[in-house]
Amino acid sequence: MATYGYRCPHCRDIEVVFPMGTAPAAVRCPDCGATSTRMFSAPMLARTPAALAARLRRAERSASEPEVVTSLPPRRAPAAVPIHPATGRLPRP
Ligand SMILES: [Zn+2]
Repeated sequence: MATYGYRCPHCRDIEVVFPMGTAPAAVRCPDCGATSTRMFSAPMLARTPAALAARLRRAERSASEPEVVTSLPPRRAPAAVPIHPATGRLPRP
């Protein structure tokens, strides 16, 4: 069974389940009865989030066109590491 999409010209998009390859070109809208034509869409394709896609593009570009830097990056304060109670009793260097 597969889900097929249809678009009613008056109401909304409709999803109807048919066995694969048996979907008709048009169905009746369950709300208004108008003829709804089948619409085609990409099947279950996940989209990459924009921030991740930008980072991936930057990483790919840096392989062949690395960015030229003229100064050191700003120094960051070291992240505070939470002390676990069990490690608090260990000897310090
Ligand atoms: Zn309708």
